[in-house]
Amino acid sequence: MIGIFGGTFDPVHYGHLRSALEVKDIFGLDEVRLIPCADPPHRGQPAVTAEMRLRMLELAIQDRLGLTVDTRELDRHKTDQTPSYMVDTLQSLRQEFPNEPLLLFIGTDAFEHLTGWHQWQRLFDYAHIAVMTRPGFETPALNDFFKARLAKNIDRLRQQNAGQLYFQQITQLDISATAIRDMIARKQNPVFLLPDAVIEYIKQNKLYETH
Ligand code: ATP
Repeated sequence: MIGIFGGTFDPVHYGHLRSALEVKDIFGLDEVRLIPCADPPHRGQPAVTAEMRLRMLELAIQDRLGLTVDTRELDRHKTDQTPSYMVDTLQSLRQEFPNEPLLLFIGTDAFEHLTGWHQWQRLFDYAHIAVMTRPGFETPALNDFFKARLAKNIDRLRQQNAGQLYFQQITQLDISATAIRDMIARKQNPVFLLPDAVIEYIKQNKLYETH
């Protein structure tokens, strides 16, 4: 199984990295691909360029621990100016991995808005969706579409390449890129919230110094 973790990564931080590693271990994944988006459809424009967000992700991961950076959304944007729709990303991953279960990880915040995503039902044609929940989180009331796809355990996910929904508790670190950007703009030190190599890159390039 291959894990997929999309985001803006503006900048990448330990909330992202710890979750990616934890789901890799819990689900026994071969790899987790972190996919920075070019033009996020559901939010404002990122604060820095796509190349900078990518560079920070590469500095953070350095292809260690089974975590990899996948640039398909940035590459696609060079020829196609449409927003980075996840359904297009999953379709292209499915073409590359025709016989492998794909598992898209999203936070509970993202799950609450999932039915607003472009062609959201089609996401399940290409991948399973695993919602990363906080400890103590109760599974929300699900609509019939989701209920019909709810998987009882991880083994069920392995038996199909796509199409199921699963809720998994993970350790949640209360870190957000927004809070880090604000901290830097206020000249506070973000150390221990994200990797030192990323902090160094931010300093060298004077990123996030103004709102
Ligand atoms: P911003 O504050 O700019 O909105 P963010 O820190 O939420 O950014 P994103 O790049 O938007 O980061 O998030 C990408 C994915 O990572 C989403 O699925 C989100 O739910 C998840 N995520 C973000 N922060 C955490 C965290 N602290 N712990 C677990 N998952 C996280």
